[in-house]
Amino acid sequence: MTIPGQLNPSPRLLLGPGPSDAHPRVLSVMSTPLLGHLDPQFLEIMTETQDMLRAVYQTRNLLTFPVSATGMAGMETCFVNLIEPGDKVVLCVKGYFGTRMVDVVGRTGAELTVLNRPWGEVFDLDQVRDTLKRVRPKVLGIVHAETSTGALQPVDQLGKLCHEFDTLLVTDCVTSLGCVPVKLDAWEIDAAFSCSQKGLSCPPGLSPVSLSERAMAALKARKTKVQSWYLDLTSIQSYWGGDRAYHHTAPITMVYAIREGLRLVLEEGLEARFARHVRNHLALKAGLTALGLKYIAGEGHQLPQLNAVRIPDAVDDVAGRKRLLIEFGIEIGGGLGDFKGKAWRIGLMGQNSRPNCVFQVLAALELVLRGAGVKVEAGSGVGAAEKAYALG
Ligand SMILES: *Cc1c(COP(=O)(O)O)cnc(C)c1O
Repeated sequence: MTIPGQLNPSPRLLLGPGPSDAHPRVLSVMSTPLLGHLDPQFLEIMTETQDMLRAVYQTRNLLTFPVSATGMAGMETCFVNLIEPGDKVVLCVKGYFGTRMVDVVGRTGAELTVLNRPWGEVFDLDQVRDTLKRVRPKVLGIVHAETSTGALQPVDQLGKLCHEFDTLLVTDCVTSLGCVPVKLDAWEIDAAFSCSQKGLSCPPGLSPVSLSERAMAALKARKTKVQSWYLDLTSIQSYWGGDRAYHHTAPITMVYAIREGLRLVLEEGLEARFARHVRNHLALKAGLTALGLKYIAGEGHQLPQLNAVRIPDAVDDVAGRKRLLIEFGIEIGGGLGDFKGKAWRIGLMGQNSRPNCVFQVLAALELVLRGAGVKVEAGSGVGAAEKAYALG
């Protein structure tokens, strides 16, 4: 065979639903020499990483650690550990990642009840309360930031409600952690999972997971073994949970990466970071609106870090995104599931939530829209964003 040439990817600005660009400091620590996964220095790094993860998740949960795989593995970890065959589970679905939960839980042998809401909307407590009363499930699962629709599901009261019915609340925080508030303890969330490549500005490869004492008690009370060997928290616990006994070889470099990503979050401060995401979102929103693009999620529950808008009828989804990528080096996301071909998803996550990303994507989008025959006044998107920054 001919050996491929040296790796040389084109520069990109990753403004899709993830991965978002890794912070330069994160990339830099990733070239640090390896330690062994049981080296005392690495064990110290694990402890530091867990402490910082707890701070970012706003929890004191003992079992808080990064699963050695992407966000979906975090989802699978939470469900396979808490659910035994025959257990009742309620899943609240209002977008693509909710349907993923249905697929994952469907394989556990659970007795599943699915609550649906039109994509782009969010659930209210009453609808959930009625179902909890009727079904009395062991577990309720819901997505906090639904990346397919750009909608933020309020979950601050949901844990309390679930606990009235002895139900454990599992929350998908894959697109929320590091971008909008996530308060596991105050919100009484029993199991949460996230990822490294969105709000934490690291490469994909880790899924921070956290389990409450209630969830740990449910794990302990299991009558059957967890169906997955690799994701079985009863044994992973012995590595990340204190004894530091070998379970699998931790992805050392990725742990370095998330440690740096978490340091960046805490140096900035959670409140400052969330405010920055809102500020840049409002500027982007002013610009997109000036370009005639409409948000899918309703006013009042739009995610600052993921802006999902409808593609104008005259514009071809794939051709538009291709032009953004080839001509401008900007990646945005297309629609998933029901929104395939109908939505564009623009992420301003973690370190990519900043004015130059806003201005670049608005200027490029304007040209793409005009190229497709949409009437847009020159500079209107960028101008509206400038005004929004001046106000905010
Ligand atoms: C990205 C995402 C996932 C999947 O995470 P991977 O890292 O791709 O495995 C799950 N849930 C939501 C809400 C997401 O946005």
